[in-house]
Amino acid sequence: MHRKLRLVGWTTHRGMAHVLRCGYPRSVPHTTPPRQCLMCDQDDENIQHLLVGCVFARQFWFCILSSVGLTLTAPKTTDLSFEAWWDRAESAVSVEARKGLNSLITLGAWIYLEAQE
Ligand SMILES: [Zn+2]
Repeated sequence: MHRKLRLVGWTTHRGMAHVLRCGYPRSVPHTTPPRQCLMCDQDDENIQHLLVGCVFARQFWFCILSSVGLTLTAPKTTDLSFEAWWDRAESAVSVEARKGLNSLITLGAWIYLEAQE
């Protein structure tokens, strides 16, 4: 299954489709402008920031990926799009390692977003 479909599937299942569509959690009314990130207070809290833009998200990915020897695939400050970072990370590993990396990123994103709710 294409990873975008997987991402939409799990985010919809977990009630995160609203975040993807509107850029901020369901608990925030539609008329409310995006709020600042509660973790770093340095940018708007939207899905791209939560997953790769936030310094805490990058630290999260660094810890997970370095634990399996994939430190070089961790998001950098220049990675502002989750999808673009995922593409870059996937292209940096062998074909044999891609399934494991994709599972790690999918589960990591799920866990990280759950912790933000
Ligand atoms: Zn942040």
